[in-house]
Amino acid sequence: MKILVINCGSSSLKFQLIDSASEEVLCKGLCERIGIDGSVIGYTPAGKDKIVKEVPMPDHNKAIELVIEALTDPETGVVKELSEIDAVGHRIVHGGEAFTKSVIINDEVIKAIEDVSDLAPLHNPANLIGVRACMKAMPGVPMVAVFDTAFHQTMPEEAYLYGVWYGYYEKFRVRRYGFHGTSHAYVSAKAAEILGKPYDSLKTIVCHLGNGASVSAVKEGRCIDTSMGLTPLEGLLMGTRSGDLDPSVVEYIANKEGTDIKNVMNILNKKSGVYGLSGDLSSDFRDLEAGYNKGDAGAIRAVNTFAYRVVKYIGAYAAAMNGVDCICFTAGVGENSPMVRKLVLERLGYLGVTLDEEANSTRGKEICISGPDSRVKALVVPTNEELAIARDTAALVK
Ligand code: AMP
Repeated sequence: MKILVINCGSSSLKFQLIDSASEEVLCKGLCERIGIDGSVIGYTPAGKDKIVKEVPMPDHNKAIELVIEALTDPETGVVKELSEIDAVGHRIVHGGEAFTKSVIINDEVIKAIEDVSDLAPLHNPANLIGVRACMKAMPGVPMVAVFDTAFHQTMPEEAYLYGVWYGYYEKFRVRRYGFHGTSHAYVSAKAAEILGKPYDSLKTIVCHLGNGASVSAVKEGRCIDTSMGLTPLEGLLMGTRSGDLDPSVVEYIANKEGTDIKNVMNILNKKSGVYGLSGDLSSDFRDLEAGYNKGDAGAIRAVNTFAYRVVKYIGAYAAAMNGVDCICFTAGVGENSPMVRKLVLERLGYLGVTLDEEANSTRGKEICISGPDSRVKALVVPTNEELAIARDTAALVK
Protein backbone atom coordinates (compact mmCIF):
# COMPACT_ATOMS: atom_id res chain seq x y z
CA MET A 1 0.00 0.00 0.00
CA LYS A 2 1.10 3.57 -0.61
CA ILE A 3 0.54 5.66 2.48
CA LEU A 4 0.79 9.45 2.58
CA VAL A 5 1.96 10.63 6.01
CA ILE A 6 1.03 14.19 6.94
CA ASN A 7 2.35 16.24 9.84
CA CYS A 8 0.55 19.56 9.69
CA GLY A 9 1.51 22.62 11.74
CA SER A 10 -0.07 26.07 11.74
CA SER A 11 2.13 27.34 8.89
CA SER A 12 3.92 24.20 7.74
CA LEU A 13 3.11 20.77 6.37
CA LYS A 14 5.58 17.88 6.32
CA PHE A 15 4.80 14.90 4.13
CA GLN A 16 6.17 11.51 3.15
CA LEU A 17 4.80 8.93 0.75
CA ILE A 18 5.76 5.50 2.06
CA ASP A 19 5.34 2.09 0.44
CA SER A 20 4.09 0.10 3.42
CA ALA A 21 5.24 -3.26 2.00
CA SER A 22 8.87 -2.33 1.36
CA GLU A 23 8.83 0.54 3.91
CA GLU A 24 10.61 2.63 1.28
CA VAL A 25 10.15 6.41 1.32
CA LEU A 26 8.98 7.27 -2.20
CA CYS A 27 8.99 11.02 -1.67
CA LYS A 28 9.40 13.38 1.27
CA GLY A 29 8.98 17.09 1.56
CA LEU A 30 7.89 20.19 3.39
CA CYS A 31 5.58 23.13 2.69
CA GLU A 32 6.66 26.18 4.65
CA ARG A 33 5.23 29.63 5.32
CA ILE A 34 1.64 28.59 4.53
CA GLY A 35 -0.56 31.67 4.80
CA ILE A 36 2.52 33.93 4.91
CA ASP A 37 4.41 35.71 2.11
CA GLY A 38 7.18 33.68 0.50
CA SER A 39 5.61 30.17 0.76
CA VAL A 40 7.95 27.40 -0.35
CA ILE A 41 7.49 23.73 -1.17
CA GLY A 42 10.59 21.52 -1.12
CA TYR A 43 10.58 17.78 -1.80
CA THR A 44 12.83 14.92 -2.75
CA PRO A 45 11.47 12.06 -4.87
CA ALA A 46 13.39 8.81 -4.17
CA GLY A 47 16.61 8.69 -6.17
CA LYS A 48 16.20 12.24 -7.49
CA ASP A 49 17.53 15.65 -6.54
CA LYS A 50 15.62 17.94 -4.21
CA ILE A 51 13.11 20.24 -5.91
CA VAL A 52 12.33 23.61 -4.35
CA LYS A 53 9.59 25.94 -5.61
CA GLU A 54 8.38 29.26 -4.32
CA VAL A 55 4.58 29.18 -4.84
CA PRO A 56 1.94 31.24 -3.03
CA MET A 57 0.10 29.06 -0.47
CA PRO A 58 -2.67 31.16 1.07
CA ASP A 59 -3.98 28.14 2.97
CA HIS A 60 -3.48 24.42 3.67
CA ASN A 61 -5.86 23.42 0.85
CA LYS A 62 -3.41 24.96 -1.59
CA ALA A 63 -0.48 23.25 0.15
CA ILE A 64 -2.16 19.83 -0.19
CA GLU A 65 -2.93 20.59 -3.83
CA LEU A 66 0.79 21.27 -4.40
CA VAL A 67 1.79 18.09 -2.54
CA ILE A 68 -0.51 16.08 -4.84
CA GLU A 69 0.90 17.86 -7.88
CA ALA A 70 4.42 17.01 -6.71
CA LEU A 71 3.58 13.34 -6.15
CA THR A 72 1.82 12.95 -9.52
CA ASP A 73 4.08 15.16 -11.67
CA PRO A 74 4.55 13.41 -15.05
CA GLU A 75 8.35 13.85 -14.89
CA THR A 76 9.42 13.82 -11.26
CA GLY A 77 6.31 12.31 -9.62
CA VAL A 78 6.37 8.96 -7.81
CA VAL A 79 2.80 7.86 -8.64
CA LYS A 80 0.94 8.02 -11.96
CA GLU A 81 -2.43 8.82 -10.46
CA LEU A 82 -3.76 10.05 -7.18
CA SER A 83 -5.81 6.84 -6.87
CA GLU A 84 -2.56 4.97 -6.20
CA ILE A 85 -2.50 6.53 -2.72
CA ASP A 86 -4.33 4.02 -0.52
CA ALA A 87 -4.60 5.98 2.73
CA VAL A 88 -3.39 9.05 4.61
CA GLY A 89 -1.91 8.90 8.11
CA HIS A 90 -2.11 12.12 10.11
CA ARG A 91 0.01 12.99 13.12
CA ILE A 92 -2.34 14.40 15.76
CA VAL A 93 -0.63 15.88 18.80
CA HIS A 94 -3.24 15.50 21.54
CA GLY A 95 -5.74 12.69 21.88
CA GLY A 96 -6.55 13.40 25.53
CA GLU A 97 -7.97 10.35 27.29
CA ALA A 98 -10.25 9.58 24.35
CA PHE A 99 -7.63 7.83 22.22
CA THR A 100 -5.45 4.97 23.38
CA LYS A 101 -4.46 3.95 19.86
CA SER A 102 -4.61 5.09 16.25
CA VAL A 103 -8.05 5.24 14.64
CA ILE A 104 -9.72 5.66 11.25
CA ILE A 105 -10.99 9.23 11.05
CA ASN A 106 -14.76 9.85 10.87
CA ASP A 107 -16.97 12.71 12.04
CA GLU A 108 -17.03 11.38 15.61
CA VAL A 109 -13.22 11.23 15.73
CA ILE A 110 -12.94 14.79 14.39
CA LYS A 111 -15.35 15.95 17.09
CA ALA A 112 -13.36 14.16 19.80
CA ILE A 113 -10.10 15.73 18.55
CA GLU A 114 -11.82 19.14 18.62
CA ASP A 115 -13.05 18.45 22.15
CA VAL A 116 -9.47 18.09 23.46
CA SER A 117 -8.11 21.03 21.46
CA ASP A 118 -8.05 23.14 24.63
CA LEU A 119 -5.16 20.91 25.76
CA ALA A 120 -3.12 21.64 22.61
CA PRO A 121 -4.48 24.91 21.23
CA LEU A 122 -1.56 25.46 18.87
CA HIS A 123 -1.35 21.92 17.53
CA ASN A 124 -4.71 20.15 17.32
CA PRO A 125 -6.53 22.80 15.25
CA ALA A 126 -3.57 22.88 12.83
CA ASN A 127 -3.56 19.06 12.62
CA LEU A 128 -7.29 19.13 11.82
CA ILE A 129 -6.81 21.70 9.09
CA GLY A 130 -4.51 19.13 7.44
CA VAL A 131 -7.10 16.37 7.87
CA ARG A 132 -9.85 18.46 6.31
CA ALA A 133 -7.67 19.64 3.42
CA CYS A 134 -6.78 16.01 2.61
CA MET A 135 -10.43 14.90 2.85
CA LYS A 136 -11.34 17.61 0.39
CA ALA A 137 -8.54 16.79 -2.05
CA MET A 138 -8.85 12.99 -1.74
CA PRO A 139 -12.50 12.15 -1.19
CA GLY A 140 -13.09 8.50 -0.31
CA VAL A 141 -9.45 7.84 0.68
CA PRO A 142 -9.31 6.53 4.28
CA MET A 143 -7.68 8.89 6.78
CA VAL A 144 -6.08 7.67 10.00
CA ALA A 145 -5.24 9.68 13.13
CA VAL A 146 -2.05 8.72 14.98
CA PHE A 147 -1.74 10.45 18.35
CA ASP A 148 1.42 11.63 20.13
CA THR A 149 -0.29 10.91 23.43
CA ALA A 150 -1.80 7.44 22.75
CA PHE A 151 1.19 5.27 23.72
CA HIS A 152 1.29 6.90 27.16
CA GLN A 153 -2.33 6.12 27.96
CA THR A 154 -1.24 2.89 29.68
CA MET A 155 0.34 4.90 32.54
CA PRO A 156 -1.13 3.99 35.92
CA GLU A 157 -3.02 6.59 37.90
CA GLU A 158 -0.11 7.06 40.34
CA ALA A 159 2.08 8.16 37.42
CA TYR A 160 -0.38 10.37 35.55
CA LEU A 161 -2.01 12.23 38.45
CA TYR A 162 -0.63 15.54 39.65
CA GLY A 163 -0.77 16.38 43.34
CA VAL A 164 -3.52 18.95 42.88
CA TRP A 165 -7.13 18.92 43.99
CA TYR A 166 -8.69 15.79 42.46
CA GLY A 167 -11.65 17.83 41.24
CA TYR A 168 -9.37 19.43 38.63
CA TYR A 169 -8.80 16.00 37.16
CA GLU A 170 -12.50 15.14 37.32
CA LYS A 171 -13.66 18.45 35.88
CA PHE A 172 -10.89 19.44 33.49
CA ARG A 173 -8.84 16.26 33.00
CA VAL A 174 -5.73 17.97 34.40
CA ARG A 175 -3.15 15.16 34.38
CA ARG A 176 0.06 13.96 32.74
CA TYR A 177 -0.49 12.89 29.12
CA GLY A 178 3.02 12.74 27.66
CA PHE A 179 4.06 13.34 24.05
CA HIS A 180 6.43 11.87 21.41
CA GLY A 181 4.46 8.65 21.99
CA THR A 182 4.91 7.43 18.42
CA SER A 183 8.68 7.74 18.84
CA HIS A 184 8.77 6.11 22.30
CA ALA A 185 6.68 3.20 20.99
CA TYR A 186 8.76 2.75 17.83
CA VAL A 187 12.13 2.97 19.61
CA SER A 188 11.25 0.69 22.54
CA ALA A 189 9.90 -1.98 20.18
CA LYS A 190 12.93 -1.64 17.92
CA ALA A 191 15.26 -2.02 20.92
CA ALA A 192 13.64 -5.38 21.76
CA GLU A 193 14.14 -6.43 18.14
CA ILE A 194 17.83 -5.37 18.22
CA LEU A 195 18.40 -7.24 21.49
CA GLY A 196 16.52 -10.29 20.21
CA LYS A 197 14.29 -10.31 23.29
CA PRO A 198 10.48 -10.37 23.52
CA TYR A 199 9.13 -6.81 23.84
CA ASP A 200 7.01 -7.83 26.82
CA SER A 201 10.04 -9.12 28.75
CA LEU A 202 12.04 -5.88 28.87
CA LYS A 203 12.33 -2.78 31.03
CA THR A 204 13.40 0.01 28.71
CA ILE A 205 14.07 3.71 29.21
CA VAL A 206 13.76 5.75 26.02
CA CYS A 207 15.50 9.15 25.96
CA HIS A 208 13.97 11.10 23.05
CA LEU A 209 16.40 14.03 22.98
CA GLY A 210 15.60 16.49 20.23
CA ASN A 211 14.63 20.13 20.20
CA GLY A 212 11.71 18.86 22.27
CA ALA A 213 12.88 16.18 24.69
CA SER A 214 11.21 13.53 26.82
CA VAL A 215 12.02 10.30 28.63
CA SER A 216 9.72 7.33 29.05
CA ALA A 217 9.71 4.15 31.10
CA VAL A 218 8.44 1.18 29.08
CA LYS A 219 7.87 -1.92 31.17
CA GLU A 220 6.96 -5.15 29.39
CA GLY A 221 5.81 -3.27 26.30
CA ARG A 222 3.66 -0.71 28.11
CA CYS A 223 4.50 2.87 28.97
CA ILE A 224 4.35 3.31 32.76
CA ASP A 225 5.68 6.87 33.03
CA THR A 226 6.92 9.74 30.90
CA SER A 227 8.44 13.14 31.57
CA MET A 228 6.18 15.46 29.55
CA GLY A 229 2.90 16.36 31.18
CA LEU A 230 -0.37 18.12 30.46
CA THR A 231 1.64 19.93 27.79
CA PRO A 232 5.14 19.37 26.35
CA LEU A 233 6.62 21.93 28.77
CA GLU A 234 7.27 19.53 31.65
CA GLY A 235 10.26 17.28 32.22
CA LEU A 236 13.70 17.58 30.66
CA LEU A 237 15.43 20.77 29.73
CA MET A 238 14.79 21.24 26.00
CA GLY A 239 15.99 23.46 23.16
CA THR A 240 13.98 26.44 24.38
CA ARG A 241 11.59 24.93 26.98
CA SER A 242 12.44 25.03 30.66
CA GLY A 243 11.13 21.59 31.64
CA ASP A 244 10.42 21.00 35.35
CA LEU A 245 10.31 23.94 37.70
CA ASP A 246 8.55 25.17 40.80
CA PRO A 247 5.23 26.69 39.55
CA SER A 248 5.87 29.62 41.91
CA VAL A 249 8.60 30.75 39.50
CA VAL A 250 5.84 31.85 37.11
CA GLU A 251 4.23 34.21 39.60
CA TYR A 252 7.60 35.42 40.88
CA ILE A 253 8.95 36.36 37.44
CA ALA A 254 5.59 37.92 36.47
CA ASN A 255 5.72 40.14 39.58
CA LYS A 256 9.37 41.08 39.17
CA GLU A 257 9.01 41.85 35.44
CA GLY A 258 5.61 43.51 35.83
CA THR A 259 4.11 41.17 33.27
CA ASP A 260 1.41 38.49 33.10
CA ILE A 261 1.32 34.69 33.20
CA LYS A 262 0.90 34.46 29.44
CA ASN A 263 4.17 36.31 28.84
CA VAL A 264 6.04 34.23 31.39
CA MET A 265 4.70 31.02 29.79
CA ASN A 266 5.99 32.30 26.49
CA ILE A 267 9.43 32.79 28.05
CA LEU A 268 9.33 29.28 29.56
CA ASN A 269 8.42 27.79 26.17
CA LYS A 270 10.51 29.88 23.79
CA LYS A 271 13.43 31.50 25.61
CA SER A 272 14.41 28.96 28.24
CA GLY A 273 15.98 25.49 28.19
CA VAL A 274 19.52 25.19 26.87
CA TYR A 275 18.98 28.38 24.87
CA GLY A 276 18.18 30.41 27.96
CA LEU A 277 20.79 28.76 30.15
CA SER A 278 23.54 29.23 27.56
CA GLY A 279 22.97 33.00 27.77
CA ASP A 280 21.04 33.00 24.46
CA LEU A 281 23.97 31.36 22.65
CA SER A 282 21.90 28.70 20.85
CA SER A 283 19.24 26.02 21.23
CA ASP A 284 21.16 23.81 18.80
CA PHE A 285 23.48 21.20 20.27
CA ARG A 286 25.89 21.55 17.34
CA ASP A 287 26.61 25.11 18.50
CA LEU A 288 26.54 24.13 22.17
CA GLU A 289 29.00 21.26 21.64
CA ALA A 290 31.33 23.60 19.77
CA GLY A 291 31.01 26.15 22.60
CA TYR A 292 31.57 23.45 25.23
CA ASN A 293 34.77 22.32 23.53
CA LYS A 294 36.02 25.93 23.34
CA GLY A 295 35.34 26.42 27.05
CA ASP A 296 32.36 28.79 26.65
CA ALA A 297 30.85 29.08 30.16
CA GLY A 298 27.24 29.37 28.90
CA ALA A 299 27.52 26.30 26.67
CA ILE A 300 29.12 24.26 29.47
CA ARG A 301 26.38 25.33 31.90
CA ALA A 302 23.59 24.46 29.45
CA VAL A 303 24.95 21.08 28.32
CA ASN A 304 25.81 19.94 31.85
CA THR A 305 22.38 20.92 33.20
CA PHE A 306 20.68 19.19 30.27
CA ALA A 307 22.63 15.95 30.84
CA TYR A 308 22.11 16.07 34.62
CA ARG A 309 18.32 16.25 34.15
CA VAL A 310 18.41 13.20 31.85
CA VAL A 311 20.47 11.32 34.47
CA LYS A 312 17.87 12.17 37.14
CA TYR A 313 14.99 10.89 35.03
CA ILE A 314 16.82 7.65 34.22
CA GLY A 315 17.36 7.10 37.94
CA ALA A 316 13.70 7.81 38.66
CA TYR A 317 12.47 5.46 35.96
CA ALA A 318 14.87 2.66 36.90
CA ALA A 319 13.31 2.97 40.38
CA ALA A 320 9.76 3.12 38.99
CA MET A 321 10.34 -0.12 37.02
CA ASN A 322 12.40 -1.75 39.80
CA GLY A 323 15.24 -2.16 37.32
CA VAL A 324 16.21 -1.42 33.74
CA ASP A 325 17.50 -3.67 30.95
CA CYS A 326 18.04 -1.14 28.22
CA ILE A 327 18.52 2.63 27.80
CA CYS A 328 17.86 4.04 24.31
CA PHE A 329 18.93 7.37 22.85
CA THR A 330 16.99 8.81 19.95
CA ALA A 331 16.02 12.04 18.07
CA GLY A 332 18.36 14.82 16.89
CA VAL A 333 20.55 15.08 20.00
CA GLY A 334 20.22 11.46 21.15
CA GLU A 335 21.22 10.14 17.74
CA ASN A 336 23.95 12.67 16.99
CA SER A 337 25.63 13.80 20.18
CA PRO A 338 28.30 11.46 21.58
CA MET A 339 29.06 14.21 24.11
CA VAL A 340 25.57 14.22 25.63
CA ARG A 341 25.33 10.41 25.65
CA LYS A 342 28.71 10.17 27.40
CA LEU A 343 27.81 12.82 29.97
CA VAL A 344 24.70 10.79 30.78
CA LEU A 345 26.04 7.24 30.69
CA GLU A 346 29.23 7.90 32.66
CA ARG A 347 27.03 8.81 35.64
CA LEU A 348 25.17 5.49 35.60
CA GLY A 349 27.94 3.31 37.01
CA TYR A 350 25.66 2.43 39.94
CA LEU A 351 23.37 0.64 37.47
CA GLY A 352 26.32 -1.32 36.08
CA VAL A 353 26.44 0.72 32.85
CA THR A 354 29.77 0.83 31.00
CA LEU A 355 30.43 2.85 27.84
CA ASP A 356 32.06 1.69 24.60
CA GLU A 357 33.77 4.98 23.67
CA GLU A 358 34.49 3.98 20.09
CA ALA A 359 30.91 2.86 19.37
CA ASN A 360 29.66 6.05 21.04
CA SER A 361 31.74 8.24 18.72
CA THR A 362 29.38 7.48 15.79
CA ARG A 363 26.51 9.75 14.84
CA GLY A 364 23.07 9.04 13.41
CA LYS A 365 23.13 5.27 13.24
CA GLU A 366 21.71 2.30 15.10
CA ILE A 367 24.42 0.97 17.42
CA CYS A 368 25.03 -0.53 20.85
CA ILE A 369 27.19 1.94 22.81
CA SER A 370 27.50 0.06 26.10
CA GLY A 371 30.56 -2.09 26.81
CA PRO A 372 30.35 -5.89 26.56
CA ASP A 373 30.43 -6.09 30.38
CA SER A 374 27.59 -3.56 30.85
CA ARG A 375 24.71 -4.87 32.99
CA VAL A 376 22.33 -2.51 31.17
CA LYS A 377 22.45 -2.23 27.37
CA ALA A 378 22.72 1.29 25.97
CA LEU A 379 21.55 1.69 22.38
CA VAL A 380 21.30 4.46 19.82
CA VAL A 381 18.06 3.81 17.91
CA PRO A 382 17.21 6.38 15.21
CA THR A 383 13.54 7.19 15.50
CA ASN A 384 11.17 7.08 12.54
CA GLU A 385 7.82 8.59 13.44
CA GLU A 386 6.66 8.75 9.82
CA LEU A 387 7.25 5.03 9.34
CA ALA A 388 5.41 4.29 12.59
CA ILE A 389 2.46 6.39 11.36
CA ALA A 390 2.51 4.61 7.98
CA ARG A 391 2.56 1.19 9.70
CA ASP A 392 -0.41 2.06 11.94
CA THR A 393 -2.30 3.49 8.96
CA ALA A 394 -1.68 0.45 6.76
CA ALA A 395 -2.70 -1.91 9.58
CA LEU A 396 -5.99 -0.07 10.12
CA VAL A 397 -7.09 0.28 6.51
CA LYS A 398 -6.12 -3.24 5.38
P1 AMP B 1 14.85 16.97 16.47
O1 AMP B 1 13.93 17.84 17.25
O2 AMP B 1 14.78 15.52 16.86
O3 AMP B 1 14.77 17.19 14.98
O4 AMP B 1 16.34 17.41 16.90
C1 AMP B 1 16.88 18.65 16.48
C2 AMP B 1 18.10 18.96 17.31
O5 AMP B 1 19.07 17.91 17.21
C3 AMP B 1 18.85 20.19 16.85
O6 AMP B 1 18.29 21.37 17.36
C4 AMP B 1 20.23 19.94 17.44
O7 AMP B 1 20.22 20.40 18.78
C5 AMP B 1 20.37 18.45 17.44
N1 AMP B 1 21.29 17.94 16.43
C6 AMP B 1 21.03 17.67 15.13
N2 AMP B 1 22.15 17.25 14.49
C7 AMP B 1 23.14 17.24 15.42
C8 AMP B 1 24.55 16.90 15.39
N3 AMP B 1 25.15 16.46 14.30
N4 AMP B 1 25.24 17.04 16.55
C9 AMP B 1 24.64 17.47 17.69
N5 AMP B 1 23.33 17.81 17.77
C10 AMP B 1 22.59 17.70 16.66
